[in-house]
Amino acid sequence: MSRPELRIDSRRFLANIAAVRGRIAPSELMLVMKDDAYGHGLIWAVETAEQAGVGWYGSYDIRGGVEIRRVLEKPARIFAWATSEDDEVDEALLQQIDLGVGTDEYLARVIARADALGMRARIHLKIDTGLHRNGILPEDWAQTVAVARAAERAGAIELVGVWSHLAEASDAEDDDARRVFEQAIEVASAAGSTPPALHLTASAASWWRPELRGSLSRIGAFCYGIRSADGPDLDGIQPVAELTAPIIETVGSDAVIGIGSFDGLPSSLAGAPVGTAAGARVLRRIDETTSVVAGLDGARIGDTVSVFGAGGRGETTATALAERIDTVGEEILTRLTGRVRRVVID
Ligand SMILES: *Cc1c(COP(=O)(O)O)cnc(C)c1O
Repeated sequence: MSRPELRIDSRRFLANIAAVRGRIAPSELMLVMKDDAYGHGLIWAVETAEQAGVGWYGSYDIRGGVEIRRVLEKPARIFAWATSEDDEVDEALLQQIDLGVGTDEYLARVIARADALGMRARIHLKIDTGLHRNGILPEDWAQTVAVARAAERAGAIELVGVWSHLAEASDAEDDDARRVFEQAIEVASAAGSTPPALHLTASAASWWRPELRGSLSRIGAFCYGIRSADGPDLDGIQPVAELTAPIIETVGSDAVIGIGSFDGLPSSLAGAPVGTAAGARVLRRIDETTSVVAGLDGARIGDTVSVFGAGGRGETTATALAERIDTVGEEILTRLTGRVRRVVID
């Protein structure tokens, strides 16, 4: 076989989920599934996480949320935070998907759709704590909460959450964000009861900044074993995916492997170490469908090379590769194309 493989280790995924839960308790894990579960495959990720009893799943869009609902066998909460069109909102209502709402316009539409369908939408209102991506501004928050509470009394929605997203650029900025977040919770609570789902942090802040954790933590990267760029290794967290490619030709001491830029491997990764049966070697060149590994005397056709993984054969991690080209580990995974076969190892 000449195709590259992304080998997915379910046991490592389960161990990472356990390590994350142990670390963040009593905050509950919301497992983030965006970008096809960070390139690992959504169906596998949901089925495996369900074995671990994960109770919350985070999807960027409603389409992904519907897919998660289809795979789940038991009831669980699904949260989709992208501002969406009305037909998708209807789908979310029918599939009982919680909605992240970060604009007054979207709130009004969600209320209208819930009214039209005679259903009750579960919403999490987003406060803008400084990232300026999406979210109700602090000066508008009380008014938006008033609208949400009125719709709640009318039976159209239930305000189940308050949330925001951190920049994670500096501790000081994140501390400021936390103050804005806590004031928003106070205002929402004063206008009714405290919403049960309070969530601010993703992987890094959930792990390193316990004081920022809410009742829920939205975590993707660390559960898949992807550490932060320029961040340290993490106790109990191991890469879930290993990218391998077969040797298809040898030329002197060079080995040609069956993976290239068309598979999503950035050609700027030339010079990076890869893992082989003989230990770490250097990726000399990345072409369109093949690459060249230097210094592999005696390599045999059909042997595999590890482009990234957990380090067993001298390869580095996806994040270590990402750091060479100024990006983040999840980018290395999510860029891999459909030419790379996903193989699950139980
Ligand atoms: C991607 C994302 C997360 C998860 O971030 P990780 O760093 O991968 O844990 C959480 N919340 C939002 C809104 C996101 O977009």
